[in-house]
Amino acid sequence: MTALQAETGVRASPIMDAIVRKKTQAVRVGDVVIGGDAPVVIQSMTNTDTADVEGSVKQIADLAAAGSELVRLTVNNDAAAKAVPAIKERLLARGVGVPLVGDFHYNGHQLLTRYPECGEALEKLRINPGNVGVGKRRDDRFATMIEVACRLGKAVRIGVNWGSLDQDLASRMMDENAKRAHPMPVEEITREALVESAISSALRAEALGLGRDRIVLSCKVSEVQGLIAVYRRLASRGDWALHLGLTEAGMGSKGIVASTAALAVLLQEGIGDTIRVSLTPEPGGDRTGEVIVAQQILQTMGLRAFMPLVTACPGCGRTTSTLFQELAAEIQDHVRGRMPEWRARYDGVETFTLAVMGCVVNGPGESKNANIGISLPGTGEEPSAPVYADGERIGVLKGGDLGRQFRDIVERYVDDHFPRKRH
Ligand code: SF4
Repeated sequence: MTALQAETGVRASPIMDAIVRKKTQAVRVGDVVIGGDAPVVIQSMTNTDTADVEGSVKQIADLAAAGSELVRLTVNNDAAAKAVPAIKERLLARGVGVPLVGDFHYNGHQLLTRYPECGEALEKLRINPGNVGVGKRRDDRFATMIEVACRLGKAVRIGVNWGSLDQDLASRMMDENAKRAHPMPVEEITREALVESAISSALRAEALGLGRDRIVLSCKVSEVQGLIAVYRRLASRGDWALHLGLTEAGMGSKGIVASTAALAVLLQEGIGDTIRVSLTPEPGGDRTGEVIVAQQILQTMGLRAFMPLVTACPGCGRTTSTLFQELAAEIQDHVRGRMPEWRARYDGVETFTLAVMGCVVNGPGESKNANIGISLPGTGEEPSAPVYADGERIGVLKGGDLGRQFRDIVERYVDDHFPRKRH
């Protein structure tokens, strides 16, 4: 244990010593553990109508196959609540055991009471304290849902969202602030209200009998600096397991960049036990994109490994042919396509690294850094491509089928270097 760990009581990440994870309670959700010493868990959410059992089963199976370790689905009405057990049953029949999380707003107390089999089929309930009602009604409804979780032994995420912040609480805190000699900015009060809503709800759930080892907290906002500020505060005030995510991150590169910027800062500070990347898919687009992005965030930070990484340089004026881009794309596709079989056959293959580089400037150096690397000839260089394995030059490829030759080397490397799994 380092001096910093001893002083702060935090522990090292299982994979990367440079990241010191904040110590949190371990929460079991089905077979998955969030917090404690567990690696950061990836989750996602469906966008099907939950009442559409067939469509929901397909999307959940796709998300799980892409690597989502928990899948949330909305439970917004009677039809959705009735569909949940059927969805679970069909998933199990297909061999998909991913834990399901029910997302409840407004009427969760009614649905969970009316359809007990819905709660039984779920492994975690998401409750938004801002969408439960007001006053005594809110307290009673919240208590009903927590009692269901206690009775069924389920975990609960108390998920506060700035778009649906508890208005009673926010108004009270704004009024108190206005009476101060030096009032704080409204933005600061909003952030404090988010954290206060999450923590006071968690303490209430604990008072109702739900153990801290069944509670995950989240406080989602849609802008990067706000999210970082809120989670730093939340993490400093308790040891609840934390769910990170930038809500309404947006579409395409904007959503990916904003989510990565926010999550990377927090994860680097050891904050966060499970993540979701809330990307808006293109119309008709693939929902699994958010899982891939979440995996890439964790893997590029060295927190987890899911898939062999291919390092490729951006290319420049030294790569005037398309050979370099074509080979980089071909190898990336090859690795992705082969991964299901490799994963089933070889232990540790997800840690494999490859490099496809465009010229002699950085090509040999990067290629030596990877398990297998190829340095292609830039414009005007001799038309040959040295290949490196674990830092050693193992040959030079020439001719018009560099892609096939390099793929063969990659296949041989995987077979020689990763032990076969025992089944
Ligand atoms: S390795 Fe060569 S081709 Fe690639 S970016 Fe650097 S200088 Fe350009």
